[in-house]
Amino acid sequence: MKRVFNFSAGPAVMPEEVLRQAQEEMLDWHGIGMSIMEVSHRGPEFQSVLEQAEADLREVLKVPSNYHVLFVPGGASTQFAMVPLNLLSETNKEADYIETGLWSQKAVQEAKRYGVINVAAQTKLHEGLYSLPLQHEWRLNPKAAYVHYTPNETVGGIEFHWVPKIPGIPLVADMTSSIMSKPIDVTQFGVIYAGSQKNVGQAGITIVIIRDDLVRDPLWHTPMLYRYKTHAEHHSCYNTPPTYAIYMSGLVLAWIKQQGGLTVLEERNKRKAKKLYDCIDEHGDFYFSNVVPECRAMMNVVFWLRREELTKEFLTQAAQAGLMNLRGHRIAGGCRASIYNAMPEAGVDRLVEFMEDFAKRCS
Ligand code: PMP
Repeated sequence: MKRVFNFSAGPAVMPEEVLRQAQEEMLDWHGIGMSIMEVSHRGPEFQSVLEQAEADLREVLKVPSNYHVLFVPGGASTQFAMVPLNLLSETNKEADYIETGLWSQKAVQEAKRYGVINVAAQTKLHEGLYSLPLQHEWRLNPKAAYVHYTPNETVGGIEFHWVPKIPGIPLVADMTSSIMSKPIDVTQFGVIYAGSQKNVGQAGITIVIIRDDLVRDPLWHTPMLYRYKTHAEHHSCYNTPPTYAIYMSGLVLAWIKQQGGLTVLEERNKRKAKKLYDCIDEHGDFYFSNVVPECRAMMNVVFWLRREELTKEFLTQAAQAGLMNLRGHRIAGGCRASIYNAMPEAGVDRLVEFMEDFAKRCS
């Protein structure tokens, strides 16, 4: 058997311990003689998996009791519609969006189907470097039903390292590529959502953490499965949820606890990201980042080769060295190393070594 270092942006590397546990439990989960994927979502076995996953998520993220934790089928893109459908109302269809990259752009486009969307701020480009708009530059609408932003843009590798403070207006955050990378204060948000396939398991579900008062009647035409109320009232089991995806998330959450929680993971993540960005900056004549240092993403390190024509060779040789999936997003180009929780520090060390060696050989 061989395992490589997988820098995929998502679906992404899983903790090896989690894959082994899933393998061990595949044919006979906890002595029941069946896989957990073979049993009813309403039966005691799966219900215990769901309850434990929620309890662990609440513990790891310190989710207060006035927030629901929902496991919603579909990807984070489903939330691009669910957020406006549920948070806009017949009397207020205005919302603010902060547009900082591909994913927030998609969120804006979807929201425009349902409401009057104000793009209150956008990424800035100065002398070839991208940066995020500071809060005093946001042109917020005081009547907005909510403000939506993307703390980490997975494609551009650009991250807010601060949380906006907007008194009286719910803040909605698409944390798909940053959830579980560090501790957060959930009370600063009205809604947090995150597709599971990066830091919380396999693809198939989206975790939604939503404050009680925001679980309310949606726009009248909202389908049952797009209503937060449906998922809250039926404890994420209105219909048959992707049970195996929830089981895998449960294993990852238990792994996070066993690693020592988010403070420990944050330290490790910061160290991993610093090693890569240091390597890029120290070899600035060969590699470069197009994001200002204070906005660089911890989970998705985007970089470019100054001689762009060498990118293909760089990726080929990296793959030969067991460093896989370093190609940048198909729209953005360049290179991207996604270094989620499950990427061991040794993988980053190997990548740094390879990058240094490649730069030396090609300079
Ligand atoms: N938001 C962000 C920040 C993402 O990174 C992604 C996926 N890469 C999405 C939304 C869309 O997620 P999905 O493909 O699960 O719909």
